[in-house]
Amino acid sequence: MKQENDLTTKVSTPLPHREGPGESPFFNPERETMSREQIEAFQLERLKETVRHCMNNAFYQKKFKEAGITPDDIQTLADVRKLPFTTKQDLRETYPFGMCCVPMRDCVRLHSSSGTTGNPTVILHTKKDLDEWANQVARNLWMVGLRPDDVFQNSSGYGMFTGGLGFQYGAEKLGMLTVPAAAGNSLRQIKFIKDFGTTAIHAVPSYVTRLYEVMQEQGVDPRRDTKLKVLAIGAEPHSEEQRKRIEDMMGVKAYNSFGMSEMCGPGVGFECPEQNGLHFWEDYYIVEIVDPETLEPVPDGEIGELVLTTLCREAMPLLRYRTRDLTRVLGRSCPCGRNHVRLDRMRGRSDDMMVLRGVNIFPIQIEKILMQFKELGNNYLITLTTDEDNDNMTVEVELAEMFTDDYNRLQQLSKDITRALKDEILLTPRVKLVPRGTLPVSEGKAVRVVDKRKVYQ
Ligand code: ADP
Ligand code: ZN
Repeated sequence: MKQENDLTTKVSTPLPHREGPGESPFFNPERETMSREQIEAFQLERLKETVRHCMNNAFYQKKFKEAGITPDDIQTLADVRKLPFTTKQDLRETYPFGMCCVPMRDCVRLHSSSGTTGNPTVILHTKKDLDEWANQVARNLWMVGLRPDDVFQNSSGYGMFTGGLGFQYGAEKLGMLTVPAAAGNSLRQIKFIKDFGTTAIHAVPSYVTRLYEVMQEQGVDPRRDTKLKVLAIGAEPHSEEQRKRIEDMMGVKAYNSFGMSEMCGPGVGFECPEQNGLHFWEDYYIVEIVDPETLEPVPDGEIGELVLTTLCREAMPLLRYRTRDLTRVLGRSCPCGRNHVRLDRMRGRSDDMMVLRGVNIFPIQIEKILMQFKELGNNYLITLTTDEDNDNMTVEVELAEMFTDDYNRLQQLSKDITRALKDEILLTPRVKLVPRGTLPVSEGKAVRVVDKRKVYQ
């Protein structure tokens, strides 16, 4: 750890951010502990400013004209609903710089989405945007107990993927020794964890499980042989069961981290130590949950599409951006002392939903069931096929290492899994149990579904 290596001798006077919040549980006490009234007053001010700022841009001028509104129409927070939605399609049509609201010379960074669902989209940042983004990420990491003495290993992809530089700048802002390990090369990751005294890791959940498997193969016990104390897992949907497994395997708390390139990247929403939903930072975003069909707001507790409006962005403010992520409001207060809205873990994007024989199914529903069987490993793959004009689902899942090769037990296990899946998704999938290490592992976001169905026009 840093203290043991006496890195402090390198800097004679502490950097300003190290003075930061001191012993406070909040990185930015003033903003994090605002009451609902304060949050809403703050949001209204920022919304007015953001809307005026958007008028610098031809795309928004046109959108406002079409909607028949002007910035003066925003008088209350509810007036946000008068604003037109923006979508990924808008970003694609104005690709690459058409939605930029500042002169290009003020932009210092470009990021692009990982393109999971089609062409990439571009997001530009000014210096101030980057600084705010780092503050958001630092706030999250501070919230889960990380402090300047910690060693943060960022085992997520770098480059265009925002999980890399996003966490890098945030962790540095907090003052941690930050290791840009990037994704993959698990042996090297494990060496770094041991040699540098890594106390916190950020990675996609599917990669953490991979890392653990390699640790097991190497005889490394994370509890005994590492100083790990916190994991930040996110960037892809995962179930509560998956999180619990990760916590049991690694022996530390794993906090859900939500981000998306369009909203800057990681830092948009993060769990506090209560682990009762993701706090979405309402001093940075207006959060709406709408019915994806009618686009009307849904009541708290009901699932709908997450719609976000940026409140602090200079280069590319986004108004009422339709994320396509499905979630619900869990509450607006929390024992941790923050009143920023708490959202349920994402069930996936509306375009992750599989429709099989008229039934809507999310991959996460399948994961939830599989993770309940201790005989199963962590990796699975769902394949949809058309056989003799019938659409079918095959679920291949890896067995846990220690598990038997007793044919009868495997038969019974496979039957039990099939029944449990049927209860959840109302269809009977084919279940194939495969040895550990046989399904493909992705270094970035896991690919859980392969759709090989014939498409009938
Ligand atoms: P792409 O859109 O190409 O996948 P992004 O990296 O911007 O690129 O991905 C953002 C998306 O990733 C979100 O809209 C959401 O669907 C998913 N995502 C990010 N974090 C989480 C999380 N913690 N839980 C579930 N889904 C997440
Ligand atoms: Zn909380």
